[in-house]
Amino acid sequence: PIRVRFAPSPTGPLHIGGVRTALFNYLFAKKHNGTFVLRIEDTDQNRYVEGAEQYIIDALNWCNIPFDEGPNINETFGPYRQSERKHLYKQYADQLVASGNAYYAFDTSEELDYHRTDHESKGKTFIYNWHNRLKLSNSLSLTEEEVQAKLDAGEDYVIRFKSPQDQTLHLKDIIRGDINIDTNILDDKVLFKSDGMPTYHLANIVDDHLMEISHVIRGEEWLPSLALHYQLYDAFGWDKPEFAHLPLILKPTGKGKLSKRDGDKLGFPVFPLEWDPEFGDIAKGYREEGYFAEAVVNFLAFLGWNPGTEQEIFSLDELVAAFDLNRVNKAGARFDPDKIKWFNHHYMQEQSNEALAEVFQKNHSQLKNIDVNFIALVIGLIKERATFVNDFWDLSHYFFVAPDTYDEKASKKAFKDDTKSLMTELLSIVSNINNFEVDTLQTEIKGWITKNEIGFGKVMMPLRLALVGALQGPDVFDIMYMIGKNESIKRIEKLIE
Ligand code: GLU
Repeated sequence: PIRVRFAPSPTGPLHIGGVRTALFNYLFAKKHNGTFVLRIEDTDQNRYVEGAEQYIIDALNWCNIPFDEGPNINETFGPYRQSERKHLYKQYADQLVASGNAYYAFDTSEELDYHRTDHESKGKTFIYNWHNRLKLSNSLSLTEEEVQAKLDAGEDYVIRFKSPQDQTLHLKDIIRGDINIDTNILDDKVLFKSDGMPTYHLANIVDDHLMEISHVIRGEEWLPSLALHYQLYDAFGWDKPEFAHLPLILKPTGKGKLSKRDGDKLGFPVFPLEWDPEFGDIAKGYREEGYFAEAVVNFLAFLGWNPGTEQEIFSLDELVAAFDLNRVNKAGARFDPDKIKWFNHHYMQEQSNEALAEVFQKNHSQLKNIDVNFIALVIGLIKERATFVNDFWDLSHYFFVAPDTYDEKASKKAFKDDTKSLMTELLSIVSNINNFEVDTLQTEIKGWITKNEIGFGKVMMPLRLALVGALQGPDVFDIMYMIGKNESIKRIEKLIE
């Protein structure tokens, strides 16, 4: 069976790139009738941030990509927080020590720093591995008694993986193909620390194994760890899952990785949901900025993947059907904030006017006493021009309140010598229309213009100016119908008073 996991560390709000990773896992799982697991990798207690786990769950739910298994949900392979699995890992570290694949090391951070600077001063890089591990303080360089004495004395230790010398590892990645790695460049990574906590590497492999994960789909930043992970599976004698490392997400310029700070500098959110508003621009979220989850998901799907056709608009179900890891690119994917707006504009058109009207009304006190059905009708007339619900007011205020000023440029263009007399004539025509419907208005007013050969612009421009205060907006007759006869008359009178 296909089982994939999204394994974030709760160190803060989930970056939009993390949501992309979760989405690709979700799509792959659903495509293959598999299971999407959420595992919280909280072994690094120093970096733990309160509320981050809930944020991750809220973000997945908002995107409509919920997990099938995870904290408090179908806990067949639980617990799903690594901190609650703490008791599990030591035995696996011990197993590797017993089989000769790992060893105890007692070097203090001062000692390690000393070696680093010493190497640097000679123009070399210090790597803790076969090259110099025998000169350092560990169970490969010390006698059994010395090691035991240190352990008995309660000295701090770590357990390191013993990376072999002179071997070539053959790694496979669904997206990147075959990768060969010379083990001589690898360091002996720490697997376990004397505070009783495993490092990411050990916990990650043990849990992927115990949770029967079939495919590991994660960001490219984990590719350098793949060699160690392969060796760990081999050292345990376990079958490996398949791996797919997703391409980096690049800044809009295409230069460099999109980072958590870019939202602040570049003026668009880098988080799905707002984090602590105290952090200001930095913590803005797509949800609060007025993006629809469907737009965010559709946009993220195209960060590194494409369907191989011209189709760009995909519902979640369509994404599931079309998704294929073999169509994920190696090259970094440029994050284009204009494109996500384009998607938002599209999904705006698909929302019901009634639902949008409720949100719009909630956001504007001026709309409090206005019939929500009327607001929905207005939205139907203007939403084609809107990307966000926040655009609605600018596009539609004249449906609710009469303009109190006229756009200067528009006035110059619309108001001519004969405007006053034409508008006076128009007023008498409008006053005589009793069946105040769009069709009637159109027939009567257009008929009058044609019959008298007045020229459409001469009437329609000042009329629009009177109704809207500018030369924008939907069809003039729609506007008149919506605001009604009395209000239409009032506004035309005001223009020429
Ligand atoms: N905890 C890691 C992270 O925060 C998970 C990496 C992986 O998926 O193996 O991204």
